[in-house]
Amino acid sequence: MNDGLQTSPARLGPGGHWRNWVGNQSFIARHKAEPASEKELAALVREASRQNLPIRVAGSGHSFTPVVATSGLLLSLMSMQGLVSADVDRKRVVVRAGTKIGDIGRALKRIGLSLANQGDIDTQAIAGALSTGTHGTGIGLGCLSSQAVGMRLVLADGAVLEVDADREPDMMAAAQVSIGMLGVISAVTLQAVTAYNLKERLWRDDFEACLEQHDELAANNRHFSFFWCPVAESRHLYCLPDVSAVSPSKREHDVCEIKVMNVTDEEPFSDEKTFERVAYSSEIYPIEYIPNFHELEYAIPVENGKEALRRVRELMLTRHTDCIYPVEYRFVAGDAGMLSPYYKRPSVTVSVSGAPGIDYWAYLLDVDAILRQYGARPHWGKLHFNTAEDMPSLYPRFQDFQAIRRRLDPSGRFLNDHLRNLFA
Ligand SMILES: Cc1cc2nc3c(=O)[nH]c(=O)nc-3n(C[C@H](O)[C@H](O)[C@H](O)COP(=O)(O)OP(=O)(O)OC[C@H]3O[C@@H](n4cnc5c(N)ncnc54)[C@H](O)[C@@H]3O)c2cc1C
Repeated sequence: MNDGLQTSPARLGPGGHWRNWVGNQSFIARHKAEPASEKELAALVREASRQNLPIRVAGSGHSFTPVVATSGLLLSLMSMQGLVSADVDRKRVVVRAGTKIGDIGRALKRIGLSLANQGDIDTQAIAGALSTGTHGTGIGLGCLSSQAVGMRLVLADGAVLEVDADREPDMMAAAQVSIGMLGVISAVTLQAVTAYNLKERLWRDDFEACLEQHDELAANNRHFSFFWCPVAESRHLYCLPDVSAVSPSKREHDVCEIKVMNVTDEEPFSDEKTFERVAYSSEIYPIEYIPNFHELEYAIPVENGKEALRRVRELMLTRHTDCIYPVEYRFVAGDAGMLSPYYKRPSVTVSVSGAPGIDYWAYLLDVDAILRQYGARPHWGKLHFNTAEDMPSLYPRFQDFQAIRRRLDPSGRFLNDHLRNLFA
């Protein structure tokens, strides 16, 4: 552990209002700060601890849960962005914790590397995305945090802990998905891969036709995912393109909008008629969303995916016909993160959304009741109904995580009410 105690005392400036991207979470922090260096960050954390204030960090605010909320010091690392170093031979890069995923992709492209996988958007701060277990799709591909092989953590007393997966795999397994509970991540080391282009293909098919091909599409494509759309308007709510021209199904409702992506040697192109395109990996992954939805997402064992999805579909077609946002269905490989939704479990993720301004709670509760029966683990950044009672059975290494959390943050400085309900 480095001694971060030599920095001069920081002055905590005024606080203010904060809200997340979609607007369903907001709070007023007593102090806000945007350090420009790890040294400044450490001094701020130490001063907040001295004043006995709780501390939280905001990434890009793309979580739907109250994981950022604090009444004490709210930190933003938006002035701590960019590539720190690259070891091209080992394909490893160190990035500052506030760096946006899209900027990491652009930096990797310049040095002939790529991220192994990414999610649907690339505007999250890397530390924020890792901390909630953010994922893309691909039966053989882990979530983003499984690409992290090291990080620097500013602890509650301002000291800096260097976490290295090779030397301390257990500490890394605790820190890689930790919802900001161990300290403030100041930098992350990522294991990248050789740069690759992806070819994307989109089409639509009937629900049962899609499920009939489920295993084959998952096995034969690097990435496979789909959105099930109960009605024709569903597609517009998530800005999905109209792929009628290339689809075997002529229906517009009760259909799956399917996407596969594979590594290719082809040169970049985009064909609007065939809904195929090729580009550098990180230019293919992100799609467009507007802040018109509140999302719940759980990970369940891959072998239960089809059955669980059929039951969610049935629920929507019978009891909640006014809930028409698409259901997104993706694949994630198992990993070692103690709080990872995919801990040692190849998974599919099922996500549903409610419309802001509508009372969608009963719908989400009904979806929760179905998915719970398959040992559903929540996406920490998306709405869920889990409590402390659920944790030990869902996460086999929960007590190990708790022991590390209590050792690194004995006074619970990095907890807030939401996290105390789950972890204290
Ligand atoms: C439109 C949209 C699309 C999305 N697509 C996907 C997707 O494809 N796949 C997926 O899995 N998820 C997806 N999400 C969820 C999103 O990726 C996660 O909620 C992610 O955590 C958000 O990152 P952020 O930078 O906004 O972090 P925030 O939401 O701001 O913070 C998330 C957590 O990280 C903590 N944190 C942030 N920075 C630090 C730090 N430096 N040190 C310690 N803790 C820190 C915060 O305190 C908080 O607990 C999507 C969300 C939206 C709104």
